[in-house]
Amino acid sequence: MYSEDLINSYPIFDTHAHYDDNRFDDIRDDLLTVIHQNGVCGIVTCGCDEVSSKKALKMAEDYSFIYAAVGIHPGNIDSGTTIEQILELATHKKCVAIGEIGLDYYWVDDNKPQQIDVFEKQIELAKKLDLPIIVHDRDAHGDTLEILKKHKPKGVVHCFSGSVEMAQEVIKLGMYIGVGGVVTFNNAKKLPDVVRIIPDELLLVETDCPYLAPVPYRGQVCHSGLIKYTAQKIAEIRGTTTEQILNLTAKNAKNLFQIK
Ligand SMILES: [Zn+2]
Repeated sequence: MYSEDLINSYPIFDTHAHYDDNRFDDIRDDLLTVIHQNGVCGIVTCGCDEVSSKKALKMAEDYSFIYAAVGIHPGNIDSGTTIEQILELATHKKCVAIGEIGLDYYWVDDNKPQQIDVFEKQIELAKKLDLPIIVHDRDAHGDTLEILKKHKPKGVVHCFSGSVEMAQEVIKLGMYIGVGGVVTFNNAKKLPDVVRIIPDELLLVETDCPYLAPVPYRGQVCHSGLIKYTAQKIAEIRGTTTEQILNLTAKNAKNLFQIK
């Protein structure tokens, strides 16, 4: 995990991580220290309910380069976490977004109205606090897009998996598109076409770690340092350099999350 080829010459800003995950328990502090020494200049670690949101805030307190997002993930709407709790956590000075929030019809699709309700309430909360949102959309492209068009929030659609047409609509709304390790997978069919059309100023890179490690680490525990492989692939698709992609996306992340 700490091999020499993970040393990065350019800044990496990982806009979507889950460092509260218990897969990091034995290595978290060492790992965060090493990747920060090797080019990772910023991380947004996301909550999925009250417990993980609090853990995200604690990490943000402990590490200057870590920022937190707090929210109720569509898979956690039965966790007992309330919108009021999220509101309270969101006032923390290192909370930079409401997330991850959204719709997931892949795992459960018999609670769509409840998912939509929790999603919309958190968008309203984000707008009230003038924070961006971090959107999770899995197998729910139609409803997600409709809700984004209705509320017009600031934010990012993370681990984008929709069509080129959907990407065009998201871009029209001025929202960012998060691209992760999936872009390096051979079965990422639509994603290269999406990656080609994202305007420079709306492109973000992310891991969703510990999940979705890019090739050549596919299937292993992912971490933010591996973003260089994702950026390399994006650069190849867009006909530019890894350096340009990493500099650009770090700048974009700071813009979206209002980090100086
Ligand atoms: Zn996530």
